[in-house]
Amino acid sequence: MPRDLGPACFSDCMKPNRIEKALCLMGLDTEFVHAGQDSVYPYDAITEPLILSTTFKRAPDGTYPFGYEYGRTATPNRTEFEKRMARLEEGASATAFASGIAAALAIFQVLRPGDHVVLADSTYFGVSEALLTHFSPWGVELSLVNAADIRAVEASMRAQTRIIFVETPSNPLLSVYDVERLTDIAHSHGAMLVCDNTLATPLFQKPLRLGADFVVHSTTKYISGNHDAQGGVIICREESEQWTAIRRLPELLGAVPSPFNCWLSSRGIPTLPCRLRQQSLSALRIASVLAEDSNVECVFYPGLPRSPSHELAARQMSGFGSVFSFTVRGGEAAAMRTAASVRLFQRATSFGGPESLIEHRASVEGSATRTPRNLLRVAVGLEEADDLLEDLVSALHSAP
Ligand SMILES: *Cc1c(COP(=O)(O)O)cnc(C)c1O
Repeated sequence: MPRDLGPACFSDCMKPNRIEKALCLMGLDTEFVHAGQDSVYPYDAITEPLILSTTFKRAPDGTYPFGYEYGRTATPNRTEFEKRMARLEEGASATAFASGIAAALAIFQVLRPGDHVVLADSTYFGVSEALLTHFSPWGVELSLVNAADIRAVEASMRAQTRIIFVETPSNPLLSVYDVERLTDIAHSHGAMLVCDNTLATPLFQKPLRLGADFVVHSTTKYISGNHDAQGGVIICREESEQWTAIRRLPELLGAVPSPFNCWLSSRGIPTLPCRLRQQSLSALRIASVLAEDSNVECVFYPGLPRSPSHELAARQMSGFGSVFSFTVRGGEAAAMRTAASVRLFQRATSFGGPESLIEHRASVEGSATRTPRNLLRVAVGLEEADDLLEDLVSALHSAP
């Protein structure tokens, strides 16, 4: 007979074990494997079990012995995932959402009419679109600003500014913003700095260490890492009134991630350093060759020493990631022809998985896009860099 699983399994009230204590002295790769894993699993399993139950037993005295009541409130796999992400981002606490956009927009859902947001003008288009079409009618004021221009950011601050929101590097132009300086501006105006760290991941960038108040991720990308789990998370630097309000939102408004997606996302974390370093090496090689190609106008990748954002990126990040974009000579038609001619790259949105993807970003972003019409975004996967390079270069030179 299996023995009673005992009260320790999946319990949040577990004391940190030896691994957690030793982690303070260990390298980043070790952290990705062990961070936040302080629970004892049933049957002493090494890997996290998947608990699909949406409801949990009450004891005769009415309490919940394991702290779990109902799926929308909290689930074991969600808690495990949140603990890992809080630890990796060096934050006080994390809360997971059903998607990256649900996480990013939760930040604005605790604002009040008349509150003002400064948004970097190169940001994931879904964030600006939702602020313009959905939050504006609710009375949230918005300024879209070139956040690389510190004076422009200063000038856009108002008495009602609550949030400066940046994504660095940004999507799809790979702009890099100075998190430390932007935090100083935010804090000197009584506002918060929110940083979307999806493209850098905690492997390459720790925004909370640079002073940011909240970090946001679409875990659909590098964190889950396999193109098979939608999800998002917010991590806070320290507990606050805003955090208390934000952390209630999944339960209150219902955008909770499923246990399976949390489990898949946690499962991606230990292999992230290996995957991302390999992908980033390939991306640098491919971007360097494309930068010299006669059919390429411009490559946007902070890893290239000639990139205007290279110096800041090298200071703020320890790697440059596997996403870059480039503009094709010959306009939109030439860009479309290139995307149509690849054989190894797949025409699809997203990034962070093993398969390399290419997309014409303006088509995805719709009529309001400010992305150049001849721009293609590339997400380098885990195939051989030389195979990918050959595929892209021959697509670029395919006859009209
Ligand atoms: C994909 C993405 C999002 C949105 O995440 P979803 O999981 O698709 O909702 C937000 N920010 C960035 C930087 C992204 O790449």
